[in-house]
Amino acid sequence: MTAELERLRRQVRELAEEWRAAGRYRPACDAWLRGHDPQFSAELARRGWIGITWPRELGGAARSHTARLVITEELLRAGAPVAAHWIADRQIGPAILRYGTPELQREFLPRIAAGEVTFCLGMSEPEAGSDLAAVRTRAVRDGDGWRISGRKIWTSHAHRATHAYVLARTEQTERRHQGLTEFVVDMRAEGVSVSPIVDLAGEHHFNEVVFDDVYVPGRWVIGTVGDGWRQVTSQLAYERGGPERVLSTYPLLAALLRDGRRRRDEGALAAVGRLVARLAALRRMCWDIAHAMDRGQAPVRQAAALKYLGTEFERDVTETARDLVAAPPDLHGDELQRLLAQAILAGPGFTIRGGSSEVLLSIVAKEEVGR
Ligand SMILES: Cc1cc2nc3c(=O)[nH]c(=O)nc-3n(C[C@H](O)[C@H](O)[C@H](O)COP(=O)(O)OP(=O)(O)OC[C@H]3O[C@@H](n4cnc5c(N)ncnc54)[C@H](O)[C@@H]3O)c2cc1C
Repeated sequence: MTAELERLRRQVRELAEEWRAAGRYRPACDAWLRGHDPQFSAELARRGWIGITWPRELGGAARSHTARLVITEELLRAGAPVAAHWIADRQIGPAILRYGTPELQREFLPRIAAGEVTFCLGMSEPEAGSDLAAVRTRAVRDGDGWRISGRKIWTSHAHRATHAYVLARTEQTERRHQGLTEFVVDMRAEGVSVSPIVDLAGEHHFNEVVFDDVYVPGRWVIGTVGDGWRQVTSQLAYERGGPERVLSTYPLLAALLRDGRRRRDEGALAAVGRLVARLAALRRMCWDIAHAMDRGQAPVRQAAALKYLGTEFERDVTETARDLVAAPPDLHGDELQRLLAQAILAGPGFTIRGGSSEVLLSIVAKEEVGR
């Protein structure tokens, strides 16, 4: 790693530690989905760490995807509250940059990078999760704009986001993968209603979102009308190819290591060591994907493979901790009990969100045989 990246890593680590030491957050498992703190996101924006790969004239810093990886690794390692800006920084900003008109880019990217605009992800519907091409939300033309009607589900942070990315059907065709279009929708627009869904952990990040004849200006279409399927497929590489698919339980792994050292427990340290060896290989995959993104690629197969293997690793961290932690998991217990409880409660979602493991294996297999 270059000295410049080392310096960036140190700076991110120091910021996270400063906020932790000041009691502004407690390191948590799955904090990239559950740790929502607009003030922390604003601080990252102030330092230029949101949209860091985007061109300077669009609010970015024209840095590499490996620089972004350094930032995300450190924030996840710290279990810091990054959910507010995560989706916009990770995938909607890049989607707008890749496919959006210059007008759309100028309207949204600087405000995302400034931490002012946040996105939720309106892909899944009651009958369209793994089978995303089954989306029924419809968009029909209305003058220069569109009217969107439909229902999205499992929309994380829809109650907090300023805007939504919405995949909608703009044409009924024989071929389900055609006639889909990507939109930006203002969450304050007339006709948008958001209802909470409380998850297994008793937390509210999921929502059901109903769009009832919501007007969207024509300039808020991302890319080409009817070409949404091809576009969203490359977006999924950004969604699946990052270290958050590996490090959701990292704070628990680090706590296990500290505890094993403190107790001088050779058996525990050997079990943690085996996990750390796997982590090294997974980090290498993350770096390869970031390099591919730096070459302008959307590495769909590698991202699917990383997410599959990374979430297996996250689960194995939890299972190892179940064996090693003597006290029962407890959200109000000591650090190990608390992190273990968080990992157990969040765990079932790891292999479902962003594409279930079965679907990821299908993608890897199909890409391998060139279908
Ligand atoms: C924590 C969390 C956060 C989420 N956040 C969001 C969000 O912000 N926005 C959003 O749009 N969605 C979100 N989702 C939804 C998520 O993307 C979907 O749940 C996921 O794509 C699976 O879809 P489904 O729930 O409809 O399950 P289904 O598609 O009904 O799948 C059910 C089971 O069948 C299997 N299966 C389905 N099809 C196949 C196949 N072809 N071959 C083999 N097996 C198959 C699946 O692997 C799974 O085990 C979130 C989910 C979770 C858990």
